[in-house]
Amino acid sequence: MHSLKSRDVVNEHGDLSIRLRRAVKGEVLFDAASRGRYATDASIYEVEPIGVLVPRDEDDVRAALDVCRELRVPVLARGGGSSQCGQSVGRGLVIDYSKFLTRVIAVDPDAHTAEVQPGIVLDALNTALRPHGLWFPVDVSSSAQATLGGMAGNNSCGSRSIAYGNMVHNVAGIDALLADGSEAFFGPADPAQASPLVSRLFALGARERGEIERRWPRVMRRVGGYNLDVFCPQSERPYTRDGSVNLAHLLVGSEGTLALSRRLHLRLAPLPTAKLLGVINFPTFRAAMEAPQHIAPLGPSAIELVDRTMIDLARANPAFRAVIESALVDASAKTPAAILLVEFAGDDAVALTAQLKRLVALIGDLGLPGSVVELTDARAQKALWDVRKAGLNIMMSLRGDGKPVSFIEDCAVPLEHLADYTTQLGEVFERHGTRGTWYAHASVGTLHVRPILDLRRGGAQKMRAIAEEAAELVRRYKGAYSGEHGDGLVRSEWVAWQFGPRLARAFEEVKDLFDPAGLLNPGKIVRPSKMDDPSLLRFRPPYAPAALETALDWSAWNVQNDALSERLTPPGTGGDPARGFAKAVEMCNSNGHCRKLDAGTMCPSYRVTRDEEHTTRGRANTLRQALGGQLGPDALTSDAVAAALDLCVSCKGCKRECPTGVDMALMKIEVLHQRVRRHGLPLKDRAVANLPRYAAWAARAPWLANLRDALPGAAALSERWLGLSAQRSLPRWRGDPFLASLPRSPAPERGDVVLFVDTFNNYFEPENAHAALRVLRSAGYAVEIARPRAANARPLCCGRTYLASGLVDEARREAQRVLEALAPAVDRGVPIVGLEPSCLLTLRDELLVLGLGEPARRLADRALTFAEFLAREAKAGALALPLQPLPMRRALLHGHCHEKAFAAFEPVRTLLGLIPELDVHVVESSCCGMAGSFGYDAEHYAVSMRMAEESLLPAVRAAPEDALVVANGASCRHQIADGTRGPRQREAVHVARALARALRAPD
Ligand SMILES: Cc1cc2nc3c(=O)[nH]c(=O)nc-3n(C[C@H](O)[C@H](O)[C@H](O)COP(=O)(O)OP(=O)(O)OC[C@H]3O[C@@H](n4cnc5c(N)ncnc54)[C@H](O)[C@@H]3O)c2cc1C
Ligand code: SF4
Ligand code: SF4
Repeated sequence: MHSLKSRDVVNEHGDLSIRLRRAVKGEVLFDAASRGRYATDASIYEVEPIGVLVPRDEDDVRAALDVCRELRVPVLARGGGSSQCGQSVGRGLVIDYSKFLTRVIAVDPDAHTAEVQPGIVLDALNTALRPHGLWFPVDVSSSAQATLGGMAGNNSCGSRSIAYGNMVHNVAGIDALLADGSEAFFGPADPAQASPLVSRLFALGARERGEIERRWPRVMRRVGGYNLDVFCPQSERPYTRDGSVNLAHLLVGSEGTLALSRRLHLRLAPLPTAKLLGVINFPTFRAAMEAPQHIAPLGPSAIELVDRTMIDLARANPAFRAVIESALVDASAKTPAAILLVEFAGDDAVALTAQLKRLVALIGDLGLPGSVVELTDARAQKALWDVRKAGLNIMMSLRGDGKPVSFIEDCAVPLEHLADYTTQLGEVFERHGTRGTWYAHASVGTLHVRPILDLRRGGAQKMRAIAEEAAELVRRYKGAYSGEHGDGLVRSEWVAWQFGPRLARAFEEVKDLFDPAGLLNPGKIVRPSKMDDPSLLRFRPPYAPAALETALDWSAWNVQNDALSERLTPPGTGGDPARGFAKAVEMCNSNGHCRKLDAGTMCPSYRVTRDEEHTTRGRANTLRQALGGQLGPDALTSDAVAAALDLCVSCKGCKRECPTGVDMALMKIEVLHQRVRRHGLPLKDRAVANLPRYAAWAARAPWLANLRDALPGAAALSERWLGLSAQRSLPRWRGDPFLASLPRSPAPERGDVVLFVDTFNNYFEPENAHAALRVLRSAGYAVEIARPRAANARPLCCGRTYLASGLVDEARREAQRVLEALAPAVDRGVPIVGLEPSCLLTLRDELLVLGLGEPARRLADRALTFAEFLAREAKAGALALPLQPLPMRRALLHGHCHEKAFAAFEPVRTLLGLIPELDVHVVESSCCGMAGSFGYDAEHYAVSMRMAEESLLPAVRAAPEDALVVANGASCRHQIADGTRGPRQREAVHVARALARALRAPD
């Protein structure tokens, strides 16, 4: 029996969810939006699963497998879903291991082994191993989201595989759950004591020995097919030291088609204590490709390529520019054609230095003296590795329908043929009217390259044609067609081509021995579909999003690109019926980087829920499917879409950290706008949005406005009527707003700098604005206060509260008032300085997509946070602030998410650093969880507190009692106060107040 018939499957669909709900404790997700979120991985495919199970424990998996076997529903194990070949999508029940099955079961530091559950992410494992001085050395670029189960499934390979090998070399055993429900340990095998399954496998291996020897690619980087060479070693790097058989190695790389991994037994390596990096700058690409064969004998731990296109893309990205330029011999000269990152790692620093010197000498001998940049500092090396790891994602940031497509991107060829192979493959691309960007593992002849293809317009045919020609080259150079990313949907079809019909049949026999009913991930590795089967493609012709009258200007995304030059057509010409919104959403290629849990901000809601729904990817997929009609009529304004966006705190973490720049905060404004237009706005949201309108009235009777927190029972009522959490205090209205306290000068003011005081600082914390004014004046600036043109008009407002509710027209009106009022200052080129990061940065961000044209752009160019302005002045040597030490010697600094998203955080640290003797510690925090009005909502209170408890609140509580806590966001300060309520409540202050406190009194 082979794969199950899909008709049976559909008929059982209802039964399946009911049976599962009865059988498991975990989450059973069968709604269209959830299924849609699991229909993609980082490949070009989209296959909707029948349902999703997020198991709570191993018993759940067992129970689900039993139900599926009985109902004949295929089962697809899934980790981070970051596979590039479509191996983690399929029609069946997806079992997502990544939320709960994430434990490190045991570590044996002496034996250098660990036992883990398959859902643990590599970075998390390595964090747990670090105290033991150990790591798991298969360092995939997707280490922040790749799970060990997925890595074993794909036989993943890291940048340092030349030193450590692939997964197959580092997995010692697998506790597996077999398709028939039995459990078995796969590890070192003794044929004499073998089960019937194992005996048959040995017999099959022995029978095919001759064919394996004839057909098997003899490169280390071969991951296609099943590892039948366990019985007859072929790899350049043997799987076991003594050539014995370890049957775990047969499961590695089997893409969940043979068994489900329950536990993985891993081999660990000592963390190298020293590393040196030599970055070779090459004038031609060919020279870079000829070099690795000469470098490899020097014993490096990695040789990684980054080509000119990628260097240029990194230079264009503010997050990467400085780092990539640190690797160039001359950053002011033309970008080199390619660089090779050559790393030497070990414990003997002297030996490493000698190795690096040999590299420099070798490159000189090869005719390129002075071409090596030596990076000895560990932080500088890590920063450059991070850029290299982000390589693929940087490349994917190309706008337009033509995208770099992964299908031949990890062919592996012997090093002596690398230059010829890459030259000839480049010619193939050219013949097909496209080109590729090259990068990655030059050490082992596996270069990543993705030609740009438009899969909506004939790209699939070109893909096949290029694949055929590439395959010929791989054959000519005796390489492996699948050298890193596996087979999946894109390459299983090529397994028979690579190994020949006899071994392809043997692979089918292996599959049938393990899984005779074809229950586990059918259609992968054996009995495959065509790589260009249109029914499997994510953008299958005639894909078209629905027309949409957008409120924001998305025309910058509404473009097409030229595959050869990568030049973009003018904004608005891309042909998107949703006026660019759909194309902005489609920028998400589902690579899963937003599932990361380490440093940075993205994505705070995923960090606390661990739900795919609450990743940026989950949201983007839901929006794309809503626009594409896959979630039913009017889906964009549906509850399912609202639910997916509900926990998005609009932190803009994704805008900066998503490598393709998916800006979910902006998308949320658009979707809210569409929803409000259709369904109206709830009372509470209306009250929050209109705060700038009634603020002046509230400030006239603050005792009345503050009653909610003074009257017993009022908070509970506000929760019932307005949905404001009773557990929250509200910001306190003040009777002395900043702007009212300053006389308005009769003549127009003309300062060196304009201070833009937002609604929150004006009405709730006027002392911040007073402090800022004092600091600016002490530094000698003539300060002009931003005010509306008409004398009796209400104060200016950036429109943030309206945007947060989707009231784009109202926000536009606010923005127009700001533009009119500030036009004279903007014309004079005066900096516009603001205190509240989210308000000021609205002038640099959303203001530009409100359709306000050139004046908006000019204002955006002038808008700076208070810290940015003063830090800039300090850097230019133009800041003379008379500062003295504070009574406290330590400051704890929490960055507002928007400061981080707009590179406006470092200036805050710089400013605090100007205070003599102050030791500044930065809290490694994501979003504080308050996020405007988000944390005040009763329904969000718990999540909001969990976000704060991730790192911010524990760090604040742990800080010495006299430490100064600095946070520039009003919400962050409120969260800190609320979250530390009690006898040791902490008050955070704006950096302006910290500076004002440190000002020396005039002599
Ligand atoms: C930007 C980017 C960079 C990448 N860099 C690299 C790289 O450097 N090296 C590399 O090798 N790959 C790389 N990849 C590919 C991918 O990230 C890796 O293959 C990764 O190991 C997959 O892990 P995952 O948890 O996402 O697995 P998934 O995609 O979820 O699953 C992978 C396979 O494993 C199977 N599987 C998952 N869990 C189990 C289980 N419990 N039991 C049985 N089978 C299971 C799945 O069915 C599937 O077939 C990259 C991908 C991206 C998007
Ligand atoms: S949102 Fe960005 S980081 Fe997340 S999967 Fe999509 S492209 Fe990757
Ligand atoms: S804006 Fe923040 S919360 Fe929303 S998707 Fe992006 S990273 Fe996540």
